[in-house]
Amino acid sequence: MSETSQSGSPCACDDVLADMDSYLDKELADDRAAAIRQHLLDCSSCASEYKVEHEVKILVARGCAQHAPPQVHARVRARLRFLGVNCSDREIRED
Ligand SMILES: [Zn+2]
Repeated sequence: MSETSQSGSPCACDDVLADMDSYLDKELADDRAAAIRQHLLDCSSCASEYKVEHEVKILVARGCAQHAPPQVHARVRARLRFLGVNCSDREIRED
């Protein structure tokens, strides 16, 4: 229900979200990264998405985050589920 994007945005939300992972990993070309950075300034929904993704990234990098504050943990777990990632499975499956 939120199809109103700010006019003048160089890229659509879908594109931004699709590139979010690469953006977080700093794998994007400079101009693409700049376009996304700009979009995040203009678009609060993508900006909040970015924040969550960023937290997820950090927590996953730390090994699924035993020490995260409960509210972050809950959000991250919900996010991971949405992304189809399961922390415990990941740890267990070593075959
Ligand atoms: Zn957006």
